[in-house]
This record gives sequence, C-alpha cells and structure tokens, in this order.
Amino acid sequence: MTDYKKARDQALELDEELRDLPQEVRNVLHPVRLTGKEHFQFRCHPGIECFNACCRNIEIILTPYDLIRIRRRLGMDVESFLNQYATPFTLTKGQLPVPLIRMDAQSGQCPFNGPEGCSIYSDRPVACRYYPIGMALMHKQQSEGEKSQDDDEFYFLIKEDFCHGHRETKDWSIAEWRQDQGSDGYDVQNRGWMEFILKRRSAGDTVATGLQLSEYFYMASTNPDVFRRFVFDSSFLKRFHVDEETERLIRTDDLALTDFAFAWLKSVLFGDKEIQVRPDAFAELKGRRAKKKEDEQ
Ligand code: SF4
Ligand code: SF4
Repeated sequence: MTDYKKARDQALELDEELRDLPQEVRNVLHPVRLTGKEHFQFRCHPGIECFNACCRNIEIILTPYDLIRIRRRLGMDVESFLNQYATPFTLTKGQLPVPLIRMDAQSGQCPFNGPEGCSIYSDRPVACRYYPIGMALMHKQQSEGEKSQDDDEFYFLIKEDFCHGHRETKDWSIAEWRQDQGSDGYDVQNRGWMEFILKRRSAGDTVATGLQLSEYFYMASTNPDVFRRFVFDSSFLKRFHVDEETERLIRTDDLALTDFAFAWLKSVLFGDKEIQVRPDAFAELKGRRAKKKEDEQ
C-alpha cells in the first residue's frame, strides 16, 4: 500500500472513531494516528498566558471512575452530584447515555474551574488528564466481518489556537505523558466501561437495544448504590451465578461493583461468559413458560 493510501485509510478510520465528538472539536484534531511511542512538544503551567482557557465550553465525559473519585472528594451522593454537576449526553454511535460535566450556562466555564485552576485537580477526569492528547479505541479486525477480542488503542493530538502549551519545547512521548498525568490508572479502572461502549458500537444493529439497555448502562456507569440494590434486593442472585468472593466484594466496593456491572451487561447483551445464568433459573423459566402456555390454552 502506498504511503498516501495508508495515511488516507488511517485518517478515515480515525474519523469514524471520532464521530461522537462535536464538529468544532474534530476541526482541531491533528488527524494522525499516534502510538504510545510517538512524541510531541507541550507544557502547561500556571504562569502561561492561556491558563484556564481550555476549561470552558467543552464536552468532558465523566467515566465511572471519574465519578467515584470526584464524588468521594466532594463527599456527595450520586443524585446530588449528578443534579448539580452533570448533564446527560447520548453517544452518536451506539446510542449509549453518558454524563458530561455541566458547563455554566452563562460563562461556559467548568464548575470546577477557579482563579487558581482546577479545584479538583488531583481527581480531575481522565479526559482532562489526557489533554492535549485524545484516545480512541477500536476493535482489531481479524478478517472481513469477524471481530477479534483484542482492542486497539491509538491517540491523536488536539491543537487549539488558544492553547499556547504547544509553543513550549518540553518533549514527551505519549506513554510518558500518560504516566505523568496518571491516565494509565484511570484506563485500567474504566476498562469494563470502555470495552462495553466499543462492543456496542461495533455490534451496530445486530444486538437488541432500547430504553432498558440505556437505563441499565447509565445506572452501571453512574450509580453504584442503585445497581447494588438491583443486585441484592431483587431476584438477581437467584437468576445469575455469582461466586461468594465476588458477592462479598461487590457488597461494599464500588469499583468492584462497577466492573461486575459491565461484565454482566456484556454477558446479557453479547453472550460473554463472565456472568452465567444459573442452571436452575433456566429450568424455572422453562417451567413458567410451560405453565403460561397451559393457562393460555
Ligand atoms: S475538571 Fe478541572 S481540568 Fe477538567 S475542565 Fe474542569 S476545571 Fe478544567
Ligand atoms: S496551555 Fe493549553 S492546556 Fe494549559 S492552560 Fe493553556 S490552554 Fe489549557
């Protein structure tokens, strides 16, 4: 393949992966697919002329781990936090709802932005940690129409005119930047959520969707308390096999519960084997169906 064709294909592929971003953001993406080894020059510091210019009029998706960290820091319950700081947004491809930070309606400022910078800096969302790098995820294609289980990560540079950080000469590899900003740990914690979004996008219309999927996904993404009640205060444990150790963990640990929630969603929607239906639940379901049939006759 010629270099031109390769570059064009990569740009098209990248364009497809970035469809969820608003046009004004896509306009400033440097459309080159980067790996962790590639380098860029950048430095952001409190003395820079553009300090805080990037914390307004932006769409910052809050991942499940972002929410857990920020809520803990602020000492807020889920409902109060979402009401005060978030607004729902539906991803174009996959139609899944995610929370965005709600920017101030008048000034366009992020509510966590102040004269001294980010007031939640050590717990800032992963999107803010990556900036000016964006990350995309895609399924590796094994052959025509067949998807591999492996996901492929790649990165792109965001160069906005107002951001003077690109004029600085500090050199980073993307891997160094990720480590410096603490993005790696966030990606590990958000893995289940990211994989689910990716699978949903790749599946297109081949899997059932609808309001119920959106509700379960949003609940798993944002509200460990409600998901915990769904597991422990319903017939969930009679229907799905959950080993004792997992059951003990998810009773109290929000991160473990979030992982479990996406493993369950992947099992229900895509037939993954992580969370299995109990054999006796199958038998009971069959019995109920047979009884219903009898009653109808
Ligand atoms: S969370 Fe912090 S870093 Fe992110 S946009 Fe808001 S103020 Fe800026
Ligand atoms: S250098 Fe860029 S990232 Fe840093 S404050 Fe300025 S606009 Fe924001």
